Amino acid sequence: MKKKKDALKVLVVDDSKVVTRVLVNYLAGMGINHPFLAATGNQAIELFKSERPDIVLLDVQLPDIDGFDVSKAIRKLEVKGEWTAIIFLTSMANDEDLVRGIEAGGDDYLTKPVAQAVFHAKVRAMQRLIEMQRQLVQAKRKLDLANTKLKRISTTDALTGIANRRAFDEFSELEWRRCMRKGKPMALVMLDIDYFKLFNDKYGHQAGDDCLKMVAAKIAKATPRATDLCVRFGGEEFMLVLSETDLDGALCMAERVRQMVADLKIPHYATASKHVAVSCGVVSVLPSEELSLEALVKSADVALYMAKRGGRDRVVAGEYGKV
Ligand code: GH3
Ligand code: MG
Ligand code: MG
Repeated sequence: MKKKKDALKVLVVDDSKVVTRVLVNYLAGMGINHPFLAATGNQAIELFKSERPDIVLLDVQLPDIDGFDVSKAIRKLEVKGEWTAIIFLTSMANDEDLVRGIEAGGDDYLTKPVAQAVFHAKVRAMQRLIEMQRQLVQAKRKLDLANTKLKRISTTDALTGIANRRAFDEFSELEWRRCMRKGKPMALVMLDIDYFKLFNDKYGHQAGDDCLKMVAAKIAKATPRATDLCVRFGGEEFMLVLSETDLDGALCMAERVRQMVADLKIPHYATASKHVAVSCGVVSVLPSEELSLEALVKSADVALYMAKRGGRDRVVAGEYGKV
């Protein structure tokens, strides 16, 4: 016959065989038929480690280490969010033992000899607490999961799946500070699809959306470094945040991305190449307290404007503060 699992995992720690037998009987009367048994403190700790019981009935006087130390050891072994009900078993109504037991991490106590009704009542009370604790842990887990999901949604652009403006705000500020501390330059590449209004007008909004997705995926692929971020900055505008990157490095990256987008060969009647193209404005600066990230963004925007004015489908280097 298959052994039915107990609803509660109970560990009984007592060096007296008589007491242990009585408690095992009491537990059986509650439908708990397979308690774990330990006769020494060290055995109790080992069983706790391997079985993670819900309740520990813990004798104060044990042949090796006393119950107080066992209780402290159990509390140390518990991981965050885990809680084990510890009920001390004291030989006589000794107030001092009781105080020490609670201080050592105990939750309640029973005085030996234990009356069955009292024993059942206390175990039931602990069972209620354990149930509440389990629900709390479960609720917390759900909340953590929901928060993680929310955080991801709030920093992701729904259409393209890459980072959004909010993510840019958070990330770029952190990287600005980090580069400042390290004395390294920080670069921005602002990209904008050429004649995208005309693309939409000619091929339709859905085709426009599909084009945005393809371009975003391409740009994102070009920035695999953990300290880089590829953002959908606005409608058909993207931004690369390149930490610890000087102007030459950023220009190189921008040119590569421009070429990658061109290589997609998405037909577009209005551009010189007859394919979808992007213009890029690139800036890099050594961050300092006197300078601002906002001004760097503005400078990238100015460089992008120059690229547009210069004929589009090109990369233009800007300068911090140049307007
Ligand atoms: P330029 O070369 O100077 O950048 O010209 P442009 O037409 O690309 O620039 P403009 O700012 O005039 O137009 C941007 C267009 O991008 C207008 C808008 O309809 C389109 N757009 C912005 N966001 C989306 C989107 O999410 N989906 C689609 N399909 N189109 C978008
Ligand atoms: Mg555009
Ligand atoms: Mg634009």
